[in-house]
Amino acid sequence: MSYYPRELVDELMNSIPLEDVARHYGDNPKGRGKNIGIHCPCCDRDQSHCHTNNASYGKAFLFQCKSPQCEAKGSTIDYIRYKEGNGVKEAIRFQDAVKKLAEIAHFPLEQKLEAYRPNAEKQAAYTKQQKALQVAAKFYSEHSHPYLNSRGISSETQKNNKIGFAPGNCLKAYMNKLDFDDSILEEVGLIHRVGNNLVDRFQNRVIFPVFDTQGKVIDLYGRSINPNDRLPHLYLRGQNIAYGFEKLDPKKPVLWVESLVNKLSLEEMGYSNVVAVGGATKFSNYHVNLTRDSGSKEHLFLYDGDSGGRKGALEAGEQLVPIGCAVKIGRVPDELDVNDLLCQGDIGTKQITSILAQAQPFNEAKAFALLEEIDPNIIYKFLAQKKTLERKQQLAQTR
Ligand SMILES: [Zn+2]
Repeated sequence: MSYYPRELVDELMNSIPLEDVARHYGDNPKGRGKNIGIHCPCCDRDQSHCHTNNASYGKAFLFQCKSPQCEAKGSTIDYIRYKEGNGVKEAIRFQDAVKKLAEIAHFPLEQKLEAYRPNAEKQAAYTKQQKALQVAAKFYSEHSHPYLNSRGISSETQKNNKIGFAPGNCLKAYMNKLDFDDSILEEVGLIHRVGNNLVDRFQNRVIFPVFDTQGKVIDLYGRSINPNDRLPHLYLRGQNIAYGFEKLDPKKPVLWVESLVNKLSLEEMGYSNVVAVGGATKFSNYHVNLTRDSGSKEHLFLYDGDSGGRKGALEAGEQLVPIGCAVKIGRVPDELDVNDLLCQGDIGTKQITSILAQAQPFNEAKAFALLEEIDPNIIYKFLAQKKTLERKQQLAQTR
């Protein structure tokens, strides 16, 4: 049996809207846009009980049955498993449902699968790049700088995370001696061209190696120690960062933060189940898939206390809700981040504890964010009206 990579399955699911698949099974979907009603593939209840939500970030076509006895939900693949299994999803294997969907969507699944198989050449180049990153990370980890200590991160935490320092102008010569030629170093981004010269990309920066879930170095992050630097943060790649995910315990609640320094700050305060995504807007399908595969269910976002962080946390949380996660949002005080709180010593640490304890469930946080945009007088008016209406209804019932 073939194994279909996640990206290929996503491409397949994105190639056909769920309502078209429902039509294939003889249903007659009602409505348009975000809320299209279909018959539930599990309990067969009518369109008013089962809705698709296919505008959800444009990344997955989802359905959800609102019937309390059923609550079936999932992707197009899940829909097909229910349909083909006569209401029992487990009766049909995932891979068989993928094949069935490809048939319905006229999607050239097997041809596409070929393209997903990395050829030997591509694989060799990738291995060499990965090796270069690994060696560079090791080289930098043998240098240190007191910058992070000044931000409250102990030498021990730095050592545990293999944090290093790039003095500048010494990596290229070192790597060349180890037979990594300039072309590969330039490809990875460890060196770049300045005028006629190839020089180290990282100069005078604290270096964080970023690992994948197998513990391989996949990126380097260089944090400037100079407050006037034009580029305070510099990633070699900067995409698909799930810093700390390889060390997660999926049975415990997961804390999500924006920056790598925030992740280390929480670690310093004794929180071990923390992941950094590399920025307020960086949470993506990549993180959703990692989360789904890990089976972790409880998630709390602790993004920075600015408008970007507040918005980013809600956008990230919204992506985890449809896959069945319990999401909470913690509110870091205005203009501060987790590291600022760590630097405040005991007061800051206590504040983190209370922020975590008072974190709002996702729906509440989302509602609060909406309410914040509204003139309070309108909210008072609304509540007063609601109360009057309720009173009238009560009176009518007692009559
Ligand atoms: Zn149902």
